[in-house]
Amino acid sequence: MKKYFIISLFFISLFGASKAFSSALSKFQIQSTYLVSGKLNVPNSSVITTFKVDFDITRQYINVNNQNQPEKVDWTVTVMYSASSSPGASDNVAISDPFRVTESDFSTNNPLVYSKTGLEAKLPANKTSGLIFLKYSYYLWSQGVKSTNPVTSNSTTTYSISATATNPTNPTNPNPPTDITKMQNMGFSTIGMQTFSTYYVVEGDIRITKALLAVTNPYYGVNNTYDHNINIKVDASVWSSSNWYNGILEAARVWNTANTDIKINLIYDSFTYSIAPRVDVVVKGASLPVSPTKIPFEAEWVKGNGNPGGEIIVNTNPGYTLAPSGDDILHLFHAIAHTMALGHTSSTVPNHENSIMSRAFEVTSAWSYLVGNYGLPFANDVTYFNSRYPVNANSVINSYINGPATFSSSASVTFRSSYISAEAGITYAWKAVGINGTTYNYQESGSNPALYDFGLPAGNYRLECTISGGKYTTEVTATKNIVVN
Ligand SMILES: [Zn+2]
Repeated sequence: MKKYFIISLFFISLFGASKAFSSALSKFQIQSTYLVSGKLNVPNSSVITTFKVDFDITRQYINVNNQNQPEKVDWTVTVMYSASSSPGASDNVAISDPFRVTESDFSTNNPLVYSKTGLEAKLPANKTSGLIFLKYSYYLWSQGVKSTNPVTSNSTTTYSISATATNPTNPTNPNPPTDITKMQNMGFSTIGMQTFSTYYVVEGDIRITKALLAVTNPYYGVNNTYDHNINIKVDASVWSSSNWYNGILEAARVWNTANTDIKINLIYDSFTYSIAPRVDVVVKGASLPVSPTKIPFEAEWVKGNGNPGGEIIVNTNPGYTLAPSGDDILHLFHAIAHTMALGHTSSTVPNHENSIMSRAFEVTSAWSYLVGNYGLPFANDVTYFNSRYPVNANSVINSYINGPATFSSSASVTFRSSYISAEAGITYAWKAVGINGTTYNYQESGSNPALYDFGLPAGNYRLECTISGGKYTTEVTATKNIVVN
């Protein structure tokens, strides 16, 4: 009986919440300049078609504790393409970045309607049929408490495509777009670009692989297939450069501490893991130019399949010096962003010279803001990164333990969680438990992602690191078996 009672309470509260909260998509349209006879105009289907959409979100006054106030809002809106004749089919793909709207985006002059004008979307090449629509997900509130999971829906307004089919190999279309055109279509400046055998470098520090330009969706950012866990291997070629080595640790900490859903895990070839980690990005050292332009790093843009670009090359040329000290953190934060398809801000954001994603960021002293509090230095950046990857509290950190699997009972060693973060409330609980005949039990807990100067008597152990209390609700435990001689 008790169980039924609880279930019925759940339904009553759910019903109450959905009745009280009624923010709605009240308009969705492709801007008229991109339409022909009410359909999206695709003048040349052998290249990407860039277009813009407008939408409105309407909310209402609701009664909270006997006071009327505008309801809270947390929406994420994405322009979608489906090859099928209806939205919601399994072949839907995102063709814009997710765009987030919260109550702070509503103006005081018009507190009940938020209007977005000109959200950019890019239809991949070779799409001559199918539908364009808007996917939106939003949270509900009940008496000031936000729901755990968002509700997801699709716009009832959809647009079909007006295209003349073109075949890149068809002799009537003898000039398929060049790689330069494709990169310009992706939004890059190709002024001063460099060409190498398998990739181009644009805007000074972004590597676009030729393999990426051959796929149909080269602009897609990192998706959440792995709950936004990105495993970065710190290659041996970086270990001897203390600036870059510490820089990647601190950049990972800033990324994880920031208010985004991205989870950076650092991994190493030199350690064995109970489950071999997937390698998404490798940070390598190599000799890059120091004259006439000092190149701090080059980072590979995304792969176009939802995964980040595979390489960040940092300049280990002996003639390269980091100045001012601390720029290594900024550079690596910026480089990691590029691997996820986060580009330079200069063309779109006011005061771009202050952004961590500005091309000129290295001339600022922004790094000093990062030291100590691990927060992002500028408010624009906090908004930007959060809107691209809003935190999903239900997503899960996939962490590992870095450190030796075998060592001597006379040694002091360091173990470190792959997920280094200073986010509010996070706790790392470490445990060393004797196994296979060894009797031992050691525990410590706190905000430190590492066990420093750690030693154990000879025996067999299971080391555990449990992460809890931070941005994500699910507690996770990484384990590692250890033999001490
Ligand atoms: Zn850059």
